[in-house]
Amino acid sequence: MPPSLFGVATFSGLRGIASVPSYVLMQPTTLCNLNCAYCYLPHRASDNRMPVAVAEAVAASANRWALDNERFSVVWHGGEPLSAGRGHLASLMAPFAGGIEQHVQTNGTLVDDRWCEFFKEHDVRVGLSIDGPRESTSLRVDWAGRPAYDRIMRGVAALRRHEIRFAVICVVSDPRPGLARELYEFFADLGCFWLGVNIEEREGVNTRDNARPAAAVQTFWAELAAAWLADPRIELREIEWALRYAGGVLAGDADDLLPRQRDPIPTVASDGRVVLFSPELAGFTDPRYGDFASGNVLDRPLHEIVTETITAPSGWIAEYLSGMESCRDSCPYFGFCGGGQASNRLFELGRFDATVTAHCSDTKIRLLEGVLDHARAS
Ligand code: SF4
Repeated sequence: MPPSLFGVATFSGLRGIASVPSYVLMQPTTLCNLNCAYCYLPHRASDNRMPVAVAEAVAASANRWALDNERFSVVWHGGEPLSAGRGHLASLMAPFAGGIEQHVQTNGTLVDDRWCEFFKEHDVRVGLSIDGPRESTSLRVDWAGRPAYDRIMRGVAALRRHEIRFAVICVVSDPRPGLARELYEFFADLGCFWLGVNIEEREGVNTRDNARPAAAVQTFWAELAAAWLADPRIELREIEWALRYAGGVLAGDADDLLPRQRDPIPTVASDGRVVLFSPELAGFTDPRYGDFASGNVLDRPLHEIVTETITAPSGWIAEYLSGMESCRDSCPYFGFCGGGQASNRLFELGRFDATVTAHCSDTKIRLLEGVLDHARAS
């Protein structure tokens, strides 16, 4: 573990699992019209569409959960969810109660005037995937290898024409010096209101090398913090969270920042199988743990699947929770990170109870240290 300003403290948050999730991820189709070089999805060439019966079964539980939550969301996340088509997506959304927030995470290439009208009619919140200016988005390509950038930007133009607010997820594969400022200026001008930045992860079918010099990654985050603080026009997930956490450490209330319990994050695959905690595990199998599914909503109500699994965790989930406690006991960054994703542990280290991964180093440890570097230099 690298040296840190933070000693290993006992963080009391994230003990146990919340019985009511705050959102459900839904895969309306496995198909994607793009074939990005870093994509982790195994079945993105196949159009396995979610039957409406799956959505109805999920809604039966979600509509109850929504009564217990101030905000409850359904996030449609494929494949490319718009590949399912407007008619089918509308049928899948229909069983969910009116107060539930509907979100789509889209690659943007299919967004046009008719989709914008659909988003407005169904009150859908839009998240877009784009990695920055043309050169930075060059790994987002279609099945013929053609760059998707111009099609994504046409989608952005449609959203702007219709005055639809949108968030952006950006994947960074090569965090070289100077990139952070360039990306921030691009996104601040793009018209998005919120930006999340992910360093590319090696997971699922993406086996690209993800070893990066720690210093380069830390400098990237420090430069991103500098760019945002100089012109905080949009929300910037990683930097705002790091600053909030660092402020909490100084104020002595960092222990209160993470939720008390872990969200089970049910992901419902197109065939109704439910994978908890890590959407990236859906569609994969493992010699020890099979398909990672805790059940299928066509066989049992979703709330029962979640309750049974978290009441008596077994199999890979028990191993993952044990890994979380190892993080709590050994890692000075646990109160900031919360213990990371199950999928990164499995795909990088082959186990769920391992601790430090390249992913947590790139997106948690180097992030916090980079933001502190910026603060020290200011
Ligand atoms: S996942 Fe990594 S950064 Fe997060 S608590 Fe565990 S070891 Fe620390």
